[in-house]
Amino acid sequence: MASQLQSLNKGTSILPASRQTLLIMGNWKMNGTLASNAALLTALRQASGSVQGAHLAVCVPFPYLAQVSQALSGSVVSWGAQDVSAHTKGAYTGEVSAAMLKDFACRWVIVGHSERRALHGESDDLVSQKVQAALIEGLTPVVCLGESLAERDAGQVEAIIARQLKPVLALGPEALQSIVIAYEPVWAIGTGRSATPEQAQAVHASIRAMLPAKAQNVPLLYGGSVKPENAASLFGMPDIDGALVGGASLVAQDFLGIAS
Ligand code: PEP
Repeated sequence: MASQLQSLNKGTSILPASRQTLLIMGNWKMNGTLASNAALLTALRQASGSVQGAHLAVCVPFPYLAQVSQALSGSVVSWGAQDVSAHTKGAYTGEVSAAMLKDFACRWVIVGHSERRALHGESDDLVSQKVQAALIEGLTPVVCLGESLAERDAGQVEAIIARQLKPVLALGPEALQSIVIAYEPVWAIGTGRSATPEQAQAVHASIRAMLPAKAQNVPLLYGGSVKPENAASLFGMPDIDGALVGGASLVAQDFLGIAS
């Protein structure tokens, strides 16, 4: 199923249409400095106008949201964060609410990245609560799903994805229309070993089949060692609507190369 993303910097919804616009989203993870960000953002801003057929977005560490919103304001590149609290306000030291992200004009927030699931013990239920918190503020959550290598080898890919997705599906078809899903096999993240286009397509098709009729146009991104060299073959697959890009999003030429 194809998806088109429109008016992404204007806070409007994700609109289904023919497959013309890919969503290429960078996940900077815990990388960057004010100086290195400035150089990267300038390069993205300058080149983004000539990128055809793809919408660019960057999800950056919280402290750099002010810098990114200034640097990208008025450009075609949108931005977001890499996590959000499930709570709205109060005694949650270290947490950042969805409303705070809105203050910095975030469009997106990554939720349930495998690094947060593994390193911070985020459960499927907590991920769903974060999705809900983001949606209430009008942010688009980018919900990450994916299996470990041991789970793949045990033939459990679909069962793991179904388990991770279940509490998100429980939010209902209306909510689901306003999310993005990123399939990120854990064994492909930061390893240089991408899923093959066929492997990724098979999982994307099964995710699509798990979604209700009203949410069939949810953009499905693939993430895991996406580079300029393998992007086109991944994007050639019918259920791959773009990419969540880690390492390669830190190098302007590579990130732009994925989108071109
Ligand atoms: C990620 O962290 O979401 C990711 C896909 O990383 P990489 O592209 O480096 O594999």
